[in-house]
Amino acid sequence: MFIGIDDTDSAVTGMCTTYLAAEIMLAFPELDVIGHPRLIRLNPMVPWKTRGNGAVSLELGKGEGERFPIAMINGRIIYGHEKKARNGNVSMKDAEERLTALIDKWGQMGDEKTNPGFVITEERPPEGLFWRAVWEVITVEDALSYLPEGSVYKGFKNGRGIIGSSASIAWNPKHDRTYEIIAYRSPERWGTERDIDEASVIEMDRRFPHTFNNYDYANRHIAISPNSPCPVLCGIRGDDRKELIPALEAIRGEEKDRWTLFISNQGTDQHILDAVIGDIKPFSSYHTHGTVSSRPERIEGGHIIVSMKDRGYEAYCAAYEPTKGFRNTVSLLRPGDEIEVWGGVSDAVRNGKLTINLEKIRVVGAADIVEKIANPLCPHCGKRMKSIGKGAGYRCSVCGGKAGEDEAKFRTVKGEERIATGYYEAPICAARHLSKPLKRMSVQNSVAFL
Ligand SMILES: [Zn+2]
Repeated sequence: MFIGIDDTDSAVTGMCTTYLAAEIMLAFPELDVIGHPRLIRLNPMVPWKTRGNGAVSLELGKGEGERFPIAMINGRIIYGHEKKARNGNVSMKDAEERLTALIDKWGQMGDEKTNPGFVITEERPPEGLFWRAVWEVITVEDALSYLPEGSVYKGFKNGRGIIGSSASIAWNPKHDRTYEIIAYRSPERWGTERDIDEASVIEMDRRFPHTFNNYDYANRHIAISPNSPCPVLCGIRGDDRKELIPALEAIRGEEKDRWTLFISNQGTDQHILDAVIGDIKPFSSYHTHGTVSSRPERIEGGHIIVSMKDRGYEAYCAAYEPTKGFRNTVSLLRPGDEIEVWGGVSDAVRNGKLTINLEKIRVVGAADIVEKIANPLCPHCGKRMKSIGKGAGYRCSVCGGKAGEDEAKFRTVKGEERIATGYYEAPICAARHLSKPLKRMSVQNSVAFL
């Protein structure tokens, strides 16, 4: 059977849905886990998400074939199994009771944004459910319409957790997948400051080449560790699951009480839809292209915005304040630059245009810019002339002689002198869980920061 669970966490009171993967394993001691537990991220633009919009699911049964470590709980390694040999002897009804008890124990019901749910199915729902839940804003009824007959589900409060629970089961790893090993703290430490040795994170980052988003060198920030009061000590992401246990062991600091090794869609760009600017809509995320159509401006809050156009449609692109040095790159764009951008769109409208919240950009072509370097010299007295006004030409303050706009001295700045073509991404400290890091795109010519 497949079990999905979602939205038990709270940014305010702590807790983390991923913690429940281990609790589910403990609640079904007579069953094996088939494959890896899943940590699936869904549409980051959903307005009511709790933090990372992540849902967890597992397949339980009697396993066979290759065994691989998927968790360490109470000092004991738990193994996942390559294949299911047969169903286990737990009824849907029994499973429902055990999961209800888990939510009663762990769900952060006091937080108005926390709306837990779980789903139990005998078969995976169609993959289309996952794609809708990562691209769109869907309802509980939408999600339920995909569930196979005989599925059991339960929603608490408004029950939105049912959406993630079922979408997590529906996800198909064949398109792309990563892994994350998440280590948890002993319960008595929850809510206290975390003790993680920064040097050991940097060493680990260098030793394990298939891990990603470990350390933000530009901002000197440990990216494997959250700041919330939740039970997570740290999480290490990577493409090679065999690297992740030794990578976690390399982290020095407080004791790791338990860990779970998830398969995930983090770092895959699965939230991104390819579209032209004219087709982008609020609450989805896009990869689109166009020509820069304004000079970048700094707006209130330290954000940088610039507009881009394609076939008569225009949108703003924004590098928000938390993206730090990435804003410097966006500030270098000029009208005429050809760019591709990746990012989410909210429902905010500025000057009639939607705004793409930039996760990364690719400068495809940098325009040559003609810039004025000096006012003209007076042909009579050789004195540098003064501008009369924008577009109105120049006048000599000594003899009153006049000159046109085009008599000033200009030079052409080659596009590549201003900004190199290639990919640029928001720093790790501001990266979305789903954003594919440039490291995973096998891009060699990237310059992440200027
Ligand atoms: Zn003069």
